[in-house]
Amino acid sequence: MVATTTARPVSNVAWPAALGAAAAAGLGYWFYMSPYSQAFGPFPYRGAGNGKVVALTFDDGPNEPYTSQIAEFLADRGVRATFFQVGRAVLRYRSLTRALVTSGHVVGNHGFTHEFTNYLTRRTLEEDIRKGQAALAAAGVRPALYRPPWLLRTPALRKVVAKHGLTAISGEFCHPFEVFQPRPEMIAARVLAKVRPGSIVIFHDGFDGHDGDRASTVTAARLVVDRLSRDGFSFATVDELLGVPPYQICPAGQAV
Ligand SMILES: [Zn+2]
Repeated sequence: MVATTTARPVSNVAWPAALGAAAAAGLGYWFYMSPYSQAFGPFPYRGAGNGKVVALTFDDGPNEPYTSQIAEFLADRGVRATFFQVGRAVLRYRSLTRALVTSGHVVGNHGFTHEFTNYLTRRTLEEDIRKGQAALAAAGVRPALYRPPWLLRTPALRKVVAKHGLTAISGEFCHPFEVFQPRPEMIAARVLAKVRPGSIVIFHDGFDGHDGDRASTVTAARLVVDRLSRDGFSFATVDELLGVPPYQICPAGQAV
């Protein structure tokens, strides 16, 4: 017996409304969260591209053992990178944050909580940035670079960032599904397909400031470093790539 179904009529009105809603959502994403949107002030996602230089960045840590594994292979190869760290994770691994700076890496502020709702109002955004700076200061670091969690920008961000002496930094994600930790070769292949002179690549050594498996990311980043090195690329920290200060100078004249 063949089952029969009654097809539901498709409303001619619903489609334009649905498409309109999808377009509005896409537009909203582009304005507020796209790595490339400059709608709320400068948000550099790459450098000028003079020379085969790229900046590797690692967000959401510290998160062990992955942050240390990354630091280890970078040290083996004489490569320096930029780590945008979450304040509440820094408080768990202060000595590791300090060791990264001592090794020549740059550490930036990636907020204190990494909780999405804390970035929606000016008051909570500012509190999160201030607490992030305080956590990093407790580790001996006074960053001048800030990467907003989720790359979320609101109209308040520009003023708050300027008030706290920070430069907002974007970048390009290494792989859209990095959070699911696909095979390292897949992550690396996508980075290598997209990377150009001046690229700022975003990896995640942590997971929103709490523990999470980042083994694929560690291997992928190593594969990327080795391949780009063979192809004649060199590596810079974000401040070097953009020509901005990495740290705020404290009264004693010390950068960190
Ligand atoms: Zn993040």
